[in-house]
Amino acid sequence: MPAAPDSSRWVSETLTTWGRARHADTLTLRAAGDDAVLARELAAAGDLPLIVYGSGRCYGDGALNSGGRTLLARGRDRIEEIDREAGVVVAQSGVTFDDLSAALHPIGFTYPVAAATGAVTLGGATVNDLHAKNNHSTGSFGRHVLWLDLMLADGSIVRTGREHEPELFHATLGGLGLTGIVLRVALKLLPIATPAVDARYRRVADIDEYLDLIQPENLKSGFWFGWVDALTRGRHMGRGILETGDYAPSSAGMQAAPKPTKVPLDLPRVATHPALIERYNARRIANLSPDGLSIRKPVAPFYFPLDHIKGFNRVYGRRGFYSVHLGIPYSERDCIKKLLAEIVSARAGSIASVLKPMGGPGEGLMSFPLKGIAFAVDLPRRPGVEELHGRLERIALAHGGRLYVAKDALMSADGFAAMFPNLDRFRAVLRRVDPKGRFQSDMSRRLRIRPELG
Ligand SMILES: Cc1cc2nc3c(=O)[nH]c(=O)nc-3n(C[C@H](O)[C@H](O)[C@H](O)COP(=O)(O)OP(=O)(O)OC[C@H]3O[C@@H](n4cnc5c(N)ncnc54)[C@H](O)[C@@H]3O)c2cc1C
Repeated sequence: MPAAPDSSRWVSETLTTWGRARHADTLTLRAAGDDAVLARELAAAGDLPLIVYGSGRCYGDGALNSGGRTLLARGRDRIEEIDREAGVVVAQSGVTFDDLSAALHPIGFTYPVAAATGAVTLGGATVNDLHAKNNHSTGSFGRHVLWLDLMLADGSIVRTGREHEPELFHATLGGLGLTGIVLRVALKLLPIATPAVDARYRRVADIDEYLDLIQPENLKSGFWFGWVDALTRGRHMGRGILETGDYAPSSAGMQAAPKPTKVPLDLPRVATHPALIERYNARRIANLSPDGLSIRKPVAPFYFPLDHIKGFNRVYGRRGFYSVHLGIPYSERDCIKKLLAEIVSARAGSIASVLKPMGGPGEGLMSFPLKGIAFAVDLPRRPGVEELHGRLERIALAHGGRLYVAKDALMSADGFAAMFPNLDRFRAVLRRVDPKGRFQSDMSRRLRIRPELG
């Protein structure tokens, strides 16, 4: 018999997310693993707006709820079923990609799409409809979700998928946790011969070469990911290192995974000084042979390149950082050059600056991907960076582009409405399943997703 609901389990906490530029004072509750207990605890919790917090790997305010309630869902971490015949896993929404790696890789399966960190939960992956460095070949995360159990604002649970309540299903993929609490996810898996990837690295001379290489007709590998030097000016602007890869047929000759290390404290501001980063970038490129490099890597360091450095976000210091993560249609190639030039001339770039191809729209009403290029740069939080972000938003908008909300803390409500053409359909679903606006976040209020709630 499940324990009785105990409303005293709610505690006051200050939460933040990966960018550490936004914080929220909120009442938190560790989510019960049992659906019925969770429903009763939430029913007893009263009217304050609620949002779910997974692993806090979004960068901005999507998982924050100042003055409201926050359900900590990471502890719902049970893998409930692995059907090897059908290649399907059913898991609670607090299960992370790291958890799935441990369960699936030894038995010859992997998940088709992951974030670049194994800490992300299935709930967070679903409601931001993740796109990875295989988006052009595999699509985004939601495409591989067969169904999901969602707890709605009234406490009822619905199993939604492409056949049952499809509009609710599609509103939940990329729906920022505003349709309800994702309880569990059924995910179609990818069989693999071995958990290894044959990765190839080559130098790229400048942004023009990158924009030639990233065209759909040139994408021959399953994975494609370009690291970009976002500080160097002049004829080398946008130079970098292109990583491509495919699953390996065997693990013979596989490189060892890097040793774990950690950033022990918040680094001082000088650590991300542009001159220092520019020198680091130059060395990184010079260290790669002009002939390139081919290596067989374990999948984990290939999927999650920075996870062996614990607390990597502390590199940006106590003030944290923002990110700008844009999707630009292929037809607007020059827009990428304009965006990069703006960042370079503001001396705002960091070591985390990337280009990825995207294969087309995700299935979610609010999914980020489109047929084009994803361009993302972490921006250390210094004076002028908010204004720079505003300029980048306006440039992207003028070229039919959009910002990725999972990494956002700064986008304007007007920009958001102009970038996501299905916003009205999304709002209609929210009004139907959550008429009183039980699910809200600092992000949903900033972006005025439910304007009728005031
Ligand atoms: C190092 C790093 C690399 C990344 N790489 C990528 C990448 O390659 N591609 C990509 O697309 N994204 C990437 N991201 C972004 C990240 O994948 C998303 O922000 C993801 O949503 C974070 O999931 P989380 O479990 O940490 O959720 P949180 O950050 O805690 O929450 C994110 C959103 O999910 C909601 N949510 C979480 N769990 C549930 C649930 N059970 N039910 C309902 N709503 C829920 C929250 O309310 C919030 O809106 C990266 C982030 C980091 C830090």
